[in-house]
Amino acid sequence: MPIYEYRCGQCEKHFDATQSVHVRVEDTVCPHCHAQSATRLLSSCTTQVKGTRKPGFAEMKAYSMLDERMDKFAKLPPIMGKRATPDTIPPSDPSTDGIQEN
Ligand SMILES: [Zn+2]
Repeated sequence: MPIYEYRCGQCEKHFDATQSVHVRVEDTVCPHCHAQSATRLLSSCTTQVKGTRKPGFAEMKAYSMLDERMDKFAKLPPIMGKRATPDTIPPSDPSTDGIQEN
């Protein structure tokens, strides 16, 4: 569930709340004064801070996908290795390697 940051309109304290996306802002109760006048803060830094506290699921998924991709790479035949033989390398400047010129 997403974590939202709120500012209480009653006591003006900031607090976090892990809520369903279906929960309305006006239903959010301040943990300090129990007023229902919180304002949801939409700061980008909120997600960053929560991300460090709670190791990102998306991040871990990305890492596992990267591992998968590297695994596939390792199983591929060494095409690049074959192309790198001296016979097939065009006599071009190494700095233009990979750039096709017309
Ligand atoms: Zn409050």
